[in-house]
Amino acid sequence: LIELRDVNKYFGDLHVLRDINLTVAKGEVVVVIGPSGSGKSTLCRAINRLETIQSGTILLDGQPLPEEGKGLARLRAEVGMVFQSFNLFAHKTVLQNVSLGQIRVRGRKREDADERSRELLDRVGVGDQADKYPAQLSGGQQQRVAIARALAMEPKAMLFDEPTSALDPEMINEVLEVMRQLARDGMTMIVVTHEMGFARSAANRVVFMADGRIVEDRSPDEFFTNPSSERAKDFLSKIL
Ligand code: ATP
Ligand code: MG
Repeated sequence: LIELRDVNKYFGDLHVLRDINLTVAKGEVVVVIGPSGSGKSTLCRAINRLETIQSGTILLDGQPLPEEGKGLARLRAEVGMVFQSFNLFAHKTVLQNVSLGQIRVRGRKREDADERSRELLDRVGVGDQADKYPAQLSGGQQQRVAIARALAMEPKAMLFDEPTSALDPEMINEVLEVMRQLARDGMTMIVVTHEMGFARSAANRVVFMADGRIVEDRSPDEFFTNPSSERAKDFLSKIL
């Protein structure tokens, strides 16, 4: 479903993604881990075309990513992205936040969009918060709204970039549980996270990045019990 071939990305002289080759099949959950600055966020942003790449190709459903215009808006709808900071519109209610993109990008009528939004808010466990403003919600609730908003666009895949890093410990699990459920429902997901419990229990593959390269790409079982590279061993010894 998502395929990166020989992708290279520079910020000026800094070579941030180096010959990245990665294929994510439909329904697969790939967890991306690695040290700070290794290129994990840039990888996600490149897939959503929030960053341009200097060489290589990225395919979604066998099609190259659109460069601009209508195609780009559609791409962003088809690949939902959830960030560390929740990025909700502060001056809009929870319901409006989830409905907005459906109306503007998917061309749905407001009533239809609102109906779908309410279903999704229920599904992520914040159905009773629909008429509040983001600032009136806890971080965990806001992040679940952000997930509902991405799902409202009926994405083919979801990218998560450290979705729980900004949350207080007691809220992390409620967000991870929503993500686990999404994985069980068959959503194709790329998840950058430091939550190794999630990686072990929900991932089909773990991709370990260091210095802009994919150093390991294997099952969680193999990765955690027997990492093959020194970089991964070193990283795991620091976080486990
Ligand atoms: P973290 O775990 O801290 O989130 P990361 O693996 O997500 O790190 P990236 O954010 O992808 O790392 O950054 C990779 C490299 O690119 C870093 O060296 C970073 O400083 C650099 N970088 C990221 N964004 C920019 C930018 N807009 N301009 C210049 N350099 C950037
Ligand atoms: Mg990052």
